[in-house]
Amino acid sequence: GGKAYQFMLRTKQPSGKVSNKLYLVMDELADQFGIRTLRLTTRQTFQLHGVLKHNLKTVMSTIIKSMGSTLGACGDLNRNVMAPAFPFTRKDYLFAQETADKIAALLAPKAGSYYDMWVDGEKIMSADPPDVIEVLNDNSRDINFEDSPEPLYGTQFLPRKFKVAVTVPRDNSVDLLTNDVGLVVISDDDGEPKGFNIYVGGGMGRTHRMEHTFPRLAEPMGYVAKEDILYVVKAIVATQRDYGRRDDRRMSRMKYLVHEWGIGKFRAIVEQYYGKQLQPFQELPPWEFKSYLGWHEQGNGLHFCGIHIDNGRVKDVAKRTLREVIEKYKLNIRLTPNQNLILCDVRPGWKQEISRSLRQGGLLHPRWVDTLNLTSMACPALPLCPLAITEAERGAPDILRRIRKMFENVGLKASDTLVVRFTGCPNGCARPYMAELGFVGDGPNSYQIWLGGASNQSRLAQTFMEKVKLQDFEKVLTPLFHAWKTQRFTGESFGEFSMRVGFEELQHHIADWTET
Ligand code: SF4
Repeated sequence: GGKAYQFMLRTKQPSGKVSNKLYLVMDELADQFGIRTLRLTTRQTFQLHGVLKHNLKTVMSTIIKSMGSTLGACGDLNRNVMAPAFPFTRKDYLFAQETADKIAALLAPKAGSYYDMWVDGEKIMSADPPDVIEVLNDNSRDINFEDSPEPLYGTQFLPRKFKVAVTVPRDNSVDLLTNDVGLVVISDDDGEPKGFNIYVGGGMGRTHRMEHTFPRLAEPMGYVAKEDILYVVKAIVATQRDYGRRDDRRMSRMKYLVHEWGIGKFRAIVEQYYGKQLQPFQELPPWEFKSYLGWHEQGNGLHFCGIHIDNGRVKDVAKRTLREVIEKYKLNIRLTPNQNLILCDVRPGWKQEISRSLRQGGLLHPRWVDTLNLTSMACPALPLCPLAITEAERGAPDILRRIRKMFENVGLKASDTLVVRFTGCPNGCARPYMAELGFVGDGPNSYQIWLGGASNQSRLAQTFMEKVKLQDFEKVLTPLFHAWKTQRFTGESFGEFSMRVGFEELQHHIADWTET
């Protein structure tokens, strides 16, 4: 009984690693206390929506018990550290994932007392810090922490959330450049990891009608030998802790500090904390986006299976099927930054039967899923997120169908595709500013349209139009798709095309189209 507070509970898993036990526990908790769905987030974690306040304690302690000993954090601290989810046994992949674990541990608060959590003025939890836990109620600002002496954060916490990702050359499945800190494992000719390239200053969040807030790509800062990486990460965190803005929450992410100072000054201050100079950033091959859906070999005789989950929402038959398979074979799981799920460590002898089950549950036929859906992401938005201005996840499937229909109408092929992302507000949780076509809620049933991101998430999109009503998408988008179809260079993606011809030209297409 009691007042129906709605809580969203977010877990932490560096690299998206989820044990068999935790998966089964989350699946059960969703049925028992949530809205019977599990949501995989864009930072490789679970969200449970709709947990009522009086159940919160039970839910949290159940999760904590099934999670072992890693530490998590709340509110404004370090968010889940990302790394490619793929269970390849290649040395650099393993090293990236291991580094993600270490950074998560490094940036987790050490003292227990400030894990007291307060929601709506009531202490709901006073615990040894679990893994888990970020609890957001209607409004995350209501969660307070007691100040507590702590080796890295001091008595003062970071001014704002802090996001770190680690990857290997080429693999941009983590959307590396959207993070406060992005690390790339550099290996020698024998594939032995020897150090890291370091990017700093990325971030998506912005605020409508406040031009001094903006999404920003992380930029190269330097290279460091692998032994020193945690010291450099600490130096970066200390820099942000001591110089990041605290007077204005909207301006407190590290990207604004890097922007204001420029990378040269930022590097110099980090070097002061680090006590040494960074080495020059090493040349990298181009970024790629791969989701590794379907079956792949891990490299150790075992296999993994990547499963596409639309917007990360695990529900209905798919949920039941996954539970059955994961339970029966005691499989470990990985969550990808694209909100997909990977079944890991599958013995060759199990493949056939697992495939059969997955097919029956409608999970193993990426061919049945439109390619638009495979790369698309949407945040939960209405009705689940209190900051939402409009719909994202709930409206995405229909909008993607309409886009496919527009493609057909202008003669594009089924194989033509683009990266579409939706968010219900400018906070940008589903990283819409990296999309080739981004929709950002800016009013009831209306969206800003962002164009120009890249299919490998290496370029920032720009605002193309504002306040476009849901029912007007055909009027705006059909002419753009027609222009792409008729004027693109061979192999030119929609993002590249819209950047090359320019927004003014694209506006002309819309105007001409409306006239005729
Ligand atoms: Fe909520 Fe905005 Fe994040 Fe979407 S982008 S989940 S609406 S805060």
